[in-house]
Amino acid sequence: MNKYAQIIVDIALSKLDRPFTYRVPESLREAIQPGTVVNIPFGRANTIRKGYVIGLTDQCGLPDERLKDIEGIVREESSRSDDPYGGYAVRLAAWMRARYGSTMAAALKTVLPSSSAAKPLMKREVRLLLSPEEAQEKLLFYQKKHQVARERLLSELIRVPRQPYSLVVNKLHISAQNLRAMQKSGVLAIEEVRTLRNPVSVRKTQAQTLVHSREQEEAIQSVLGDFERGESTVTLLHGITGSGKTEVYISIIREICAQGRQAIMLIPEISLTYQTLLRFYRHFGSRVSVVSSALSAGEKADQFERARRGELDVMIGPRSALFTPFSKLGVIVIDEEHENSYKNESMPKYHTRDAAIQIAKMRGACVVLGSATPSMDSYHRAMKGEFRLCRLSQRLTGGTLPSVEITDMRQELRDGNRSILSARLQELITKRLDGGEQIMLFLNRRGVSGFVSCRSCGFVFKCPHCDVTLSLHRGGRMLCHYCGHEEPAAKVCPECGSPYILGMRAGTQQVEETMHRMYPKARVLRMDADTTSAKGSYERILSSFANEEADILIGTQMIVKGHDFPKVTLVGILMADLSLYASDYCAGERTFQLLTQAAGRAGRGESPGTVVIQTYQPDHYSIRRAASQDYEGFYEEEIMYREVMHYPPAAHMLGIQFQSELEDRAMAMAGYIAMRIRKQFPDLTVIGPAAASYGRLRDIYRFVLYIKEESYDTLMQCKDTAEAYLDCLREKGIDTKVQVFFDFDPVNPY
Ligand code: ADP
Ligand code: ZN
Ligand code: ZN
Repeated sequence: MNKYAQIIVDIALSKLDRPFTYRVPESLREAIQPGTVVNIPFGRANTIRKGYVIGLTDQCGLPDERLKDIEGIVREESSRSDDPYGGYAVRLAAWMRARYGSTMAAALKTVLPSSSAAKPLMKREVRLLLSPEEAQEKLLFYQKKHQVARERLLSELIRVPRQPYSLVVNKLHISAQNLRAMQKSGVLAIEEVRTLRNPVSVRKTQAQTLVHSREQEEAIQSVLGDFERGESTVTLLHGITGSGKTEVYISIIREICAQGRQAIMLIPEISLTYQTLLRFYRHFGSRVSVVSSALSAGEKADQFERARRGELDVMIGPRSALFTPFSKLGVIVIDEEHENSYKNESMPKYHTRDAAIQIAKMRGACVVLGSATPSMDSYHRAMKGEFRLCRLSQRLTGGTLPSVEITDMRQELRDGNRSILSARLQELITKRLDGGEQIMLFLNRRGVSGFVSCRSCGFVFKCPHCDVTLSLHRGGRMLCHYCGHEEPAAKVCPECGSPYILGMRAGTQQVEETMHRMYPKARVLRMDADTTSAKGSYERILSSFANEEADILIGTQMIVKGHDFPKVTLVGILMADLSLYASDYCAGERTFQLLTQAAGRAGRGESPGTVVIQTYQPDHYSIRRAASQDYEGFYEEEIMYREVMHYPPAAHMLGIQFQSELEDRAMAMAGYIAMRIRKQFPDLTVIGPAAASYGRLRDIYRFVLYIKEESYDTLMQCKDTAEAYLDCLREKGIDTKVQVFFDFDPVNPY
């Protein structure tokens, strides 16, 4: 049995992306199973490469002399034959490959994270080899001989048969000579063992038990009911921040873990604050772990290994934690399910939500999604009855919902106010500062950077490597936010020579300067990409604000997440409509989410909060509905637009993206593929090809082709057509110098 293995070679060439057959040496037959990562001799030169076992058989049609042997297993620990995860991982990778388009090797790499090249941490240990009787005998022998050092070590080993080497040498003061002697006489062995680092140092405490609200209880019981019946369902929990969603997650996870199953809890990286983690640590103690970007690759691999060994019940983390190798997964929770970071932006471009649902189906687990502003996709599926919808309608933390005012910046301009702050916001800021209350100013500049232009001819300064405008920074330099290109601010216009250059520094820096000028006594903190580039600075700024070391916090979308600030009674949203200009169909959805979240920052404490939304489009439904905190109203208007336009979730959309250093090559390839798809599927709506919204980044030209269609399967066929054409070129040995990516139901502008 298991004489031959089908292996995918870990290599980026899609020409070689097919299974190769290898012989499994006798010594490895026990250990190898689907999902095992092995070393194999590959090619004519027999270079050793990594490979993924995807299947095992006893027969193979090839003559034995043409086969090579597997050389060894990449990591011993991750190949236990009682670990069923590998089989799931291979099936999941196959699903991912078919659904999103990528090589099998890339899909396997995604779902088998523990096979990363990270070096395991090894530690030397001293282990007793004798049976208890033999040990006692030996102890007497040492006593008789007055070998006190050996006697000391042996009695320690009788107490605890495995001791760290460093402890033996440094604390027990046993010399290397003594150790060697005892090793030689078969008393002990010195071994290298892998140690698994544990990032969690908080102990489990008696967590208070809350009396759940009726809505919470309903949500918990419906999920647990499905779980007990073995139904793999999806529940969407719609509730504002503070409505008790996390409490629901914890109750469900606790019950499912009590039945011997495990849980994956996904939280976007930016919301993985210490406060949040602490709640889980208190409930699950050392049975919970976390994989965040704060951990090294080795530490992350250790956490997956601990899960595989059954040392954990709960894994918390961003997207990648989804592939935790639990043996009996029971539930996957996705908090803030609307976040775009759940979409993987490299191949395979999978969406975490859909991958989670697929995994849950394969493993008989339940899925729970939670958000204050659910994605259009999830809410649409809930409306169609695919997901169960549970609402949490009250804020349990007390506090009242803030009152929201919209100020029309066009009117301000007509009234002669040229400041970036409306008269109403200025008035409220003064009041709050006088009253010793805190203020947050949120600058919505998602997807848009500032720009520098000529006031005479309108020339706009652009990055020489990217198709984006440069923005002006303090110190008189112009910066590209994509590639980091930097140049001194221009003194004259290169087009017409005019000295009147306008720096639209509509950024956080400018707001900060304005605040200093208008309110010189106020203490101001600023949080944006520039002030948070150093490690830990994000948390530092937030906790400094929480400790009331500042009156005003200015920031980009970063400040709408994370900490609770009970003293904040005023939130100003500047340029609320800026994100509406992003050139993709999700702009309205994103704007609504951002504004709703930002508005929700006010009035968390005892005093009621006020929110001022400054906008040039006061009548846009995304802005009006966010102001009235009306999710359902927003959904109704947005879904109408998506239906009319055949955008997801009303239909599906496939973006085929082309990148090349050679503009004409990328364009030609996009044209060819568009033509082939049009020919094969004459009824489909194929848009483009056209230059991408960022037509050039870091000197790489980008083109895109969109196909809109109700049936996802048809789009998969379009992808297959394109792939077949690319394969055909490759087989002919033609290097097109164009990279092609598939993006199903894209959520980030390309
Ligand atoms: P969300 O995840 O929706 O923001 P949380 O679960 O964090 O909400 O709950 C918000 C606050 O309300 C927390 O401090 C939590 O301890 C508290 N809370 C949650 N459920 C209850 C309950 N049933 N009774 C009293 N307090 C609760
Ligand atoms: Zn000019
Ligand atoms: Zn650039």
